[in-house]
Amino acid sequence: MKRKITSEIVVAYWNCPRKAYLLLFEQEDSKIHEYINLLAQEKVKNQTQFIREIDPLLLVQPCKASLKSANDFLIGNTLKTDILEANCDLLTKIHGQSALGDFSYEPTIFVGTHSIGKSQKLRLNFIAYILGQLQNLLPTKGIIIGANGKSHKIRLNKCERIVIPILEDLRQWKVSPPTEEPPIILNQHCLYCQFQNLCKAVAQREDNLSLLDRITPKEKRKYERRGIFTIKQLSYLFRPRKPRKRISHNSQYSHKFELQALALRTQKVYLQEPPDIKRSPVEIFLDIESIPDQNFYYLIGLLIYKGNEFKQYSFWADDLLDEAKIWIKFLEIIDDYPETSIYHYGNFEQKAITKLGKRYDTNIDKLASRLTNLNGYIYGKVYFPTYSNSLKEIGAFLGAKWTSPNASGLQSLVWRHKWDLKKDNIYKNSLLKYNAEDCLATKLLLDGLTDITIRASLVSRAIVRILYKLYLTSRVINLAEIGLDTPCAIKETA
Ligand code: SF4
Repeated sequence: MKRKITSEIVVAYWNCPRKAYLLLFEQEDSKIHEYINLLAQEKVKNQTQFIREIDPLLLVQPCKASLKSANDFLIGNTLKTDILEANCDLLTKIHGQSALGDFSYEPTIFVGTHSIGKSQKLRLNFIAYILGQLQNLLPTKGIIIGANGKSHKIRLNKCERIVIPILEDLRQWKVSPPTEEPPIILNQHCLYCQFQNLCKAVAQREDNLSLLDRITPKEKRKYERRGIFTIKQLSYLFRPRKPRKRISHNSQYSHKFELQALALRTQKVYLQEPPDIKRSPVEIFLDIESIPDQNFYYLIGLLIYKGNEFKQYSFWADDLLDEAKIWIKFLEIIDDYPETSIYHYGNFEQKAITKLGKRYDTNIDKLASRLTNLNGYIYGKVYFPTYSNSLKEIGAFLGAKWTSPNASGLQSLVWRHKWDLKKDNIYKNSLLKYNAEDCLATKLLLDGLTDITIRASLVSRAIVRILYKLYLTSRVINLAEIGLDTPCAIKETA
């Protein structure tokens, strides 16, 4: 095997062992997400600026001398042992005995984000581990410098507990490479991973259980022990039960993967509990965009429907100073419709409003009581034939469209970053459109759920039973024939 164990591989293993395996043994030329490239550029900018402040000469003559040189600063050194290797952005000399002499070094790394995450701390700990071996003294602290130039002192106490166990596993792989790739367990890191397309394609080919959003490795293993390896197999595990006699609308349902799998196999919508939606003549749909790393809310989108007429608002903040202004504008519009429900999807908007309320000292009690998270009508209750309950997937099923084929939360960060750099309106317009289309998708979702509410109330239990049988025996039902067009709703019942 050619590759050494690098910090990239250690962090990859921590995120997903399969990623570490692919980096070590197989794929080298996968496409890195644009967002990761942007972070790398930010990191270089941050590093250059910082080093210029220490000593501009260091930029002209980078000091890559060996550790024994005893220079005050060493920049961009590659630290190596037999099979380990890590680049350290900056090493700073400190006094105290080590194998190098009466001094040793402490590591500093630069990152492209404002806030510091666990994977960045792990990278620093790995560098410290190699440095500890080379100078025979483990540094007790290191520094991570964020994109805003802020210095974060980090205690290097993760080597024993995290770095060494990971290295033991990776060393074992080097001694005897695994005969098979580690299994696919799609996870939150996949969004950022260069192997995303590869793994997704394999998972879809295998009809892998991991495609089901939120299925944990433990739950997946539980099914595998029962001989269930695909979504199709899982769909046959679903057994309808008699509906409860009295159902409180506040009752909590857990998400049933078997029913999700059945919805996917039959391409039908299933109901555990029909939504109970009451529409109003005026309705508001809300979507907020932020840069989470900077805790900055820069776009508040509203879509206000009054019958068939609608108004659309996009409150945009160029910078943090504008955030207060868009918050006030948003409140002014909302106050014009004091009794109107405000629909959104997911809990992000609720959290954003709570934070903005605190930040700008606004009493948001009334506003918070008007917020309705449509996900509350879906989770554990309505099963669409989608792998996840994301607005993108369910919205697309109900006919929502996004102008940009790669529109996503991560892509919105790329657009915003590019707009910050170039102030090119092409990126701002992409964001405004994306946000407006999310508001519209939320409206479509409410319409879809209303449709299901009406059908569920029309369909008597007897018909539900017939429909249930029909849906189980026929892949495609002509819904128009039975007075239902789209989407179909079926109650889980015996
Ligand atoms: S895409 Fe996901 S499952 Fe595949 S290697 Fe990356 S993190 Fe692991």
